[in-house]
Amino acid sequence: MTLLLNGFELAKQCREQLAEKIKTLPRAPKLAVVLVGNDPASAVYVKNKEKAAAEVGIQSVVYRFDTISQKELLSLISDLNNDTEVDGILVQLPLPDDLNEKEILQAIDPAKDVDGFHPLNLGKLMIGEPAPVACTPKGCLKLIRLAKQNLTGLNALVIGRSVIVGKPIAQLLLKENCTVTIAHSKTENLPELCRHADILVAAIGKPKTVNADWIKKGAIVIDVGINRTEDGKLCGDVDFENCFDQCSAITPVPKGVGPMTIAMLLENTVEAFLKKTNIRP
Ligand code: NDP
Repeated sequence: MTLLLNGFELAKQCREQLAEKIKTLPRAPKLAVVLVGNDPASAVYVKNKEKAAAEVGIQSVVYRFDTISQKELLSLISDLNNDTEVDGILVQLPLPDDLNEKEILQAIDPAKDVDGFHPLNLGKLMIGEPAPVACTPKGCLKLIRLAKQNLTGLNALVIGRSVIVGKPIAQLLLKENCTVTIAHSKTENLPELCRHADILVAAIGKPKTVNADWIKKGAIVIDVGINRTEDGKLCGDVDFENCFDQCSAITPVPKGVGPMTIAMLLENTVEAFLKKTNIRP
């Protein structure tokens, strides 16, 4: 029997636990979100984050700009860094081409970096020190844990090497004592590598790339991809229907990794608040 790793339900449980925790705090944690440009997908993501934050009792403030200069944006980040009421800062990516994304992300106070994209936090993940962990990788690990608690010795294959998804997921799995392989667009013989994976994480961004005969019988499959088919439907990087029976557990798209990403953002915001205030609820 294949276990459906229902990220929608797990995210709901995470939010409920957070809401209970937040009720015991002396004030609501505060999240500042910066949205620049007119990308419709980014606008939807930010709306969803705002809504989810309000539901659990996190105060969120969204700074929306059609355009803003690098200097002005850096100045806003500096103000948010210095604002003692702000616990978390998120800059919605991608930023418009005229802005230097790396410089903006590096300007965020690492303690308020609830997306976990600051180089210091990525470095801490690499050396195994506690730090905010990027939301999607963190959510993926929680989903994997629904299927299996002890991951020691398992072969994990991560397809994708982006700084915000593939690489941090690989680090988290390494920390869990998996034997980790990272594949990318130049990898040769990807199907063969997949066939050895007890855990397969697809973070490619290409619809239905992974199919059933690539999957080891009983593998745990996490599909990070969000793509649209020609008829406009959402689909992942894994051919879900085709692969389902071959896996011991698999995430759907939608309602898999996506909702967990937002839940982990809320969790990171609460954790940033707790660390700053030294409160143990
Ligand atoms: P990137 O485009 O930054 O990275 C994609 C990675 O996939 C690259 O490392 C690329 O290799 C690799 N790749 C591309 N084609 C192939 C191929 N044919 N075979 C093997 N590897 C390949 O994307 P992201 O990491 O930002 O996102 C990946 C997917 O996850 C996207 O669909 C995105 O929308 C989704 N996503 C979902 C989130 C969620 O909450 N569910 C959050 C974030 C992202 P190379 O490095 O060589 O170019």
